[in-house]
Amino acid sequence: MKVGFYGHVRQYHNLKSELDAAIQEVLESGEYVLGPALARFERELAAFHKMKHAVGVNSGTDALWLTFLALGIGPGDEVITTANTFFATAEAIWFTGAKAVFVDIEPDTCNIDPGLIERAVTSRTKAIVPVHLYGQMADMPAVSEIAKRLGLHVVEDCAQAIDARGDGFAAGNLSDAVCVSFIIQKNLGTFGDGGAVVTDREDVASRIRALRNHGSLKRSNHSMGYNSRLDDLHAAVLGVKLGKVPGWSERRREIAGMYTAGLKGTAFRLPFEKPGYRHVYHLYVIETPKRDEFLKYLNDAGIDAKVHYPIAIHKQEGYPWGEAADLNVRLPLTERSAAGVISLPMYPELEQSEIDYVIAACRDWKGV
Ligand SMILES: *Cc1c(COP(=O)(O)O)cnc(C)c1O
Repeated sequence: MKVGFYGHVRQYHNLKSELDAAIQEVLESGEYVLGPALARFERELAAFHKMKHAVGVNSGTDALWLTFLALGIGPGDEVITTANTFFATAEAIWFTGAKAVFVDIEPDTCNIDPGLIERAVTSRTKAIVPVHLYGQMADMPAVSEIAKRLGLHVVEDCAQAIDARGDGFAAGNLSDAVCVSFIIQKNLGTFGDGGAVVTDREDVASRIRALRNHGSLKRSNHSMGYNSRLDDLHAAVLGVKLGKVPGWSERRREIAGMYTAGLKGTAFRLPFEKPGYRHVYHLYVIETPKRDEFLKYLNDAGIDAKVHYPIAIHKQEGYPWGEAADLNVRLPLTERSAAGVISLPMYPELEQSEIDYVIAACRDWKGV
């Protein structure tokens, strides 16, 4: 049997008539950039988060970058985040000219460890960027307590965690802004790239609206900005899918439950769900010290597993040593995670026979 890593072609086939109609409608309207489809989706996305503003941009990376710019972060500033994330989290910080300061992760959730944040704060620190990794929210109450006390901004990298919830809080409740990504493989994905910033702050939303459109809020009037808009075609696609996200999250959680039950008693380290949190399983990540052998074994069995992320950011060749980062940073838990993690296929369209096959293959592995 072959089990693919992504379900988006199945998802397209399941929603084909609705998606095709929405795309057709935009094509016939002739309004492709900053048009009504985008405006409608932005309203729906803000309502989905029970927040005031959503601003569509070109990608999750741009959502982060433009949010940092809107908050006034730039050269000489420091931003505290995790190195156990996709490269873009730090890249967006570096793009402003600020320095990324990495702290290690909690051993169980693999999210930023709030207990390590305060000692990383200096007089230059401007913001904390928790990443809700794999679909589980970081400890936002702890992050926000530190930020409030020290007068720092909090920007949530929610690229992997739309529709996730913490114990008594949701994305946006305890931060200045929430950055989401709509690249196809995310839990809410378009046919290509996209992203958005969701915020209650009128000033931040308005600055990002200008920044994404050459600094222009009024025709022919510009301040310094960039070109980073969410196309109306993508907005229309996302509008069709947004309402399905809660059901997809439930299905992901159901599949995660089956994996976890099926792998109980094996030597794999299984995902940890914090009590009271709703993990939306963008990725179902397990850990074994013999990861590379296990990956090859699964691939040979026809199972397309992947690794997120094999090289932590501070170990990347493109890591800008010196000014933009800390030369001596030691992140033992982040490094352990990078060496051992592996992601099993996880998407709502997985079939029972595929789930069973993945579980059986993992259980049959003689490597542990
Ligand atoms: C996907 C992702 C991003 C970047 O989003 P793009 O839309 O690909 O630019 C940023 N941070 C995290 C944690 C991600 O998973």
